[in-house]
Amino acid sequence: FRNVSFNYEGGNGETVLKSLDLEFAAGKSTALVGPSGSGKSTILNLTMRLYDPTDGQVEIDGMDIRDVTFASLRENMAFVGQDTFLFAGSVKHNIGLGRADATDDEIIAAAKAANAHDFISKLPEGYESDVGENGGNLSGGQRQRLSIARAILRDAPILLLDEATSALDAESEAEIQKALHDLSQGRTTILIAHRLSSVMRADQIIVVKDGEILEQGTPAELLKNENFFKRSYDLQ
Ligand code: ATP
Ligand code: MG
Repeated sequence: FRNVSFNYEGGNGETVLKSLDLEFAAGKSTALVGPSGSGKSTILNLTMRLYDPTDGQVEIDGMDIRDVTFASLRENMAFVGQDTFLFAGSVKHNIGLGRADATDDEIIAAAKAANAHDFISKLPEGYESDVGENGGNLSGGQRQRLSIARAILRDAPILLLDEATSALDAESEAEIQKALHDLSQGRTTILIAHRLSSVMRADQIIVVKDGEILEQGTPAELLKNENFFKRSYDLQ
């Protein structure tokens, strides 16, 4: 992000991101933390080019994101969000969207890695079961696990995780956080999380507040920083 400012059209007129300069190192993971409404998800929205900056520019590998095709962006990024959107069709279809040439075995392996296989095997027709409109037949945690399976299958170099385990019970969460941590190895990962345990495993932490960077550093550096600890209480 080079000097990126952004406000949502039709928003309350407030500048959501304020002249942000940010760098996400290739192959490393960066955790974005900060209070609700600070602009974390907005940073991901601009990274996926759901919106263009009001000012400044977003670059990938030194190239203005506006010069990258949407097909290439889609191919190179996997996203798991807080509220998971599923497409009409079967469970298999929804996971398989991760990669067009995936075999059934690969789809099942991804579902297992995302801890989704157990509930899928209990569905009336297993992987062929219809998810209903927008995943309406499934719980929030089940939808989230399918979207994690889809991201695993996608095997993209850029991984964007926006509170990717927010809808899961504590037991699944620990297991899936490990799967996502493994998946993030060697990928450029931007991770938004409230739990300090996952934040502390990132290579870099950036604390955002009101669309600006408050602190930035490695977990070890921030552990020595008293301000970070004071502020982390807000982050829980
Ligand atoms: P949380 O931790 O609650 O997810 P966040 O840090 O991800 O918060 P954002 O979702 O980036 O925060 O929101 C930043 C600001 O932008 C908030 O003031 C929010 O109200 C506003 N905002 C977010 N999405 C939109 C939108 N689609 N239209 C208008 N305003 C929006
Ligand atoms: Mg958010």
